[in-house]
Amino acid sequence: MDALALEIENRRDDLVRLTRDLIRIPTLNPPGRNYREICEYLQARLAPQGWACELIRAHGAPGDSEAFPRWNLVARHRGGPPGDCVHFNSHHDVVEVGHGWSRDPFAAELEGGRIYGRGACDMKGGLAASIIAAEAFVALYPDHPGQIEISATADEESGGFGGVAYLASQGAFAHVGHVIIPEPLHKDRICLGHRGVWWAEIETHGRIAHGSMPFLGDSAIRHMGAVLEEMERTLFPLLMSKHTEMPVIPEGARNSTLNINSIHGGEPDHGPDFTGLPAPCVADRCRIVIDRRFLIEEELSEVKREVTALLEKVKAARPGFTYEIRDLFEVIPSMTDREAPVVRSTAAAIERVLGREAGYVVSPGTYDQKHIDRIGKLKNCIAYGPGVLDLAHQPDEWVGVDDMRDSARVMALVLDDILRGA
Ligand SMILES: [Zn+2]
Repeated sequence: MDALALEIENRRDDLVRLTRDLIRIPTLNPPGRNYREICEYLQARLAPQGWACELIRAHGAPGDSEAFPRWNLVARHRGGPPGDCVHFNSHHDVVEVGHGWSRDPFAAELEGGRIYGRGACDMKGGLAASIIAAEAFVALYPDHPGQIEISATADEESGGFGGVAYLASQGAFAHVGHVIIPEPLHKDRICLGHRGVWWAEIETHGRIAHGSMPFLGDSAIRHMGAVLEEMERTLFPLLMSKHTEMPVIPEGARNSTLNINSIHGGEPDHGPDFTGLPAPCVADRCRIVIDRRFLIEEELSEVKREVTALLEKVKAARPGFTYEIRDLFEVIPSMTDREAPVVRSTAAAIERVLGREAGYVVSPGTYDQKHIDRIGKLKNCIAYGPGVLDLAHQPDEWVGVDDMRDSARVMALVLDDILRGA
């Protein structure tokens, strides 16, 4: 075993303890609980070891309030001579618990080499592994060239605006050369990026009338029905025919996709407690929210044009049809080149630690890489970390201790390679 691997092996209990401690701080988002507590916990660990720690609140970010302030931590270790800066970024927020747990989601139970809890795999296990990797490296080479940074950031699960986007807008990545985001993509895979996103709301209009005389009104729901029918007939087949060269996992996401997130029309839903009967009215409005995921080969303007062209086609064919379309959210696809330094270095480290070639994947959904790419203007960024992606956001989420240890070894070797050229 080489010296770095030994340093990490000796920290196995510490790795377990750290992961369990992090899970036991329930950083639920929404609403954004205990963000300061988790940042202070990490500061209390890293500052005495010589890390310069900065707690940064994203004032004015979505969700930021006195009750739920958006706190972030950036910790920096400067070695001896100048050199590159390697940055590990983890989000510290976790999604709601949901139903179906057979364990306490915040007890961080350890059983059979697995630690269970909300956020275990997404991504407190990855955060812990990156800390252990950096501490082991610094213990061996305290005067390493360059800098190592570890950030724990808010709100990734709700778009990252109070976290990485805020830090990037403040110039936090200006001096950074390499970024690893230890999201749970599995210890033998490098995630190069993600597909693009466009969310929009489409509304059709009608005219209200008594339900017994619908001919006196104009049904917005029937107009929306025509839109959905046209989507089935032309848009969904078109999207299925668009394939990408991006290695997206799962493979079903290697096409363009569109989900209709919701549909609302006519009288509002009164909920399960309402015991009355609905009122007979012709719907004067109907709305859908679409979630279009697009490929690096597609332009966002073209993606939007497909939908507006479809709406215009329905309009031309249907008397009385009017609509509005409103953009809600958009993210451009991001994909780091396989020859980028952080990719090559991580691939070599995976091969050394695991004795097999690294896999390359792209995420079907987005994560904080988008902000590092777009706002931070840094392309040399990947997601790499322990854990099984399918377990994220699920009940009985867990992370494997051996997986964390192995990925910590990989991350430490990346530091060794980039900072020491070893
Ligand atoms: Zn995550």
